[in-house]
Amino acid sequence: MSESATLYIVPTPIGNLDDISPRALTVLSEVDWIAAEDTRHTHKLLQHFSVNTRTLSLHEHNEDKRTAMLCQRLKDGEAVALVSDAGTPLISDPGFILVRRCREEGIPVVALPGPCAAITALSASGLPTDKFMFEGFLPPKTGPRKQVLEGLSERTFTTVYYEAPRRVLDTVQDVCETLGEHRHIVLAKELTKTFETYVDGAAKNVAEWLQEDPVRQKGEFVLMISPAAAQQKALPPEALSLLASLKPLLPLKKAAAIVAEHYNLKKNALYQAGLEMDGE
Ligand code: SAM
Repeated sequence: MSESATLYIVPTPIGNLDDISPRALTVLSEVDWIAAEDTRHTHKLLQHFSVNTRTLSLHEHNEDKRTAMLCQRLKDGEAVALVSDAGTPLISDPGFILVRRCREEGIPVVALPGPCAAITALSASGLPTDKFMFEGFLPPKTGPRKQVLEGLSERTFTTVYYEAPRRVLDTVQDVCETLGEHRHIVLAKELTKTFETYVDGAAKNVAEWLQEDPVRQKGEFVLMISPAAAQQKALPPEALSLLASLKPLLPLKKAAAIVAEHYNLKKNALYQAGLEMDGE
C-alpha cells in the first residue's frame, strides 16, 4: 500500500497580498489539489501568484461529502492544500471535519502559520494577551447576543469576536447595555488594508464613533472586549464602598483622590473603578 500524502492547512492574506508566505506559495504550487472554500475567489489569488494547481470546492455545505473523497485521494498519495477565502482555514471557516477525519485515519496534517484576523487584531489591541478567548461570531439576534455578552461580566481575560458590518453598531450597543458604557473595548477594522483602523475606548465612545458616519460601519471587524473590572477586584471592599458613597457628592477625580489618600491606594485604580461602577 502506498503511503498517504499530506494535507496542508494554508493561511492566505486577509487583505494585503504581500502577507502570503513563500512557503505557502511553494506548497500551493506543489500539491496535487487545492481544496478551497470558494474556488472562484481562490482562483484570483492563484492567478496573481501564477499558481496553476487544480482546485475543488470545500465549504460548509459539502464538507462531509468532500472529506470522504479527499481522504481517499490523500491515501492514494495525492497531496492536498486546504485554503479558505481569507486567513487561516478552520478559524470561523470550514475544514474541521476534514482535519479530524485525516487525524482519525492517520493521514499526516501539516499547518503553515500565517494571517489570522483575530491574532493580528489582538496583538496590536493593547488589551491583555496573556490569556484570551476567541469566540468566533456572536449570535445575529440581539436577545441571544446579549445573553452571551452577559457571560463576560465577570470574565477576567480578553474576549475576541468576529463581527459583520451590518451588525457591528447593534453589537457595540448591546455591549453598552450588558457590560456597561464604560467597558473598555477595541474595534479593529480593515486589518492589513489601506484604511486599517483601531478604535479604542469606552464602549459608549466606540458606538458614538460608529454612529457619527455610517461609512465607518462598513468593512471587516474584529471586536475585542477587555477583562472585567480588574481594578475593582484588586481594591479592598471598604475602599470601594467609600468611593461609592462619595461618587454622587463629588467629581470622580476628587472622590478617587480622597479614597486613595485614606487607604493608601493608587488614585488611577480608584478612578477606573469609579468609571466601571457606572457601567454596572
Ligand atoms: N479564517 C479567517 C481568519 O483567520 O481570520 C476568518 C474568517 S471569518 C469567516 C471572516 C471574519 O473575519 C470577518 O467577518 C471579520 O470579522 C474577520 N476579518 C477577516 N479579515 C479581516 C480584516 N482584514 N480586518 C478585520 N477583520 C477581518
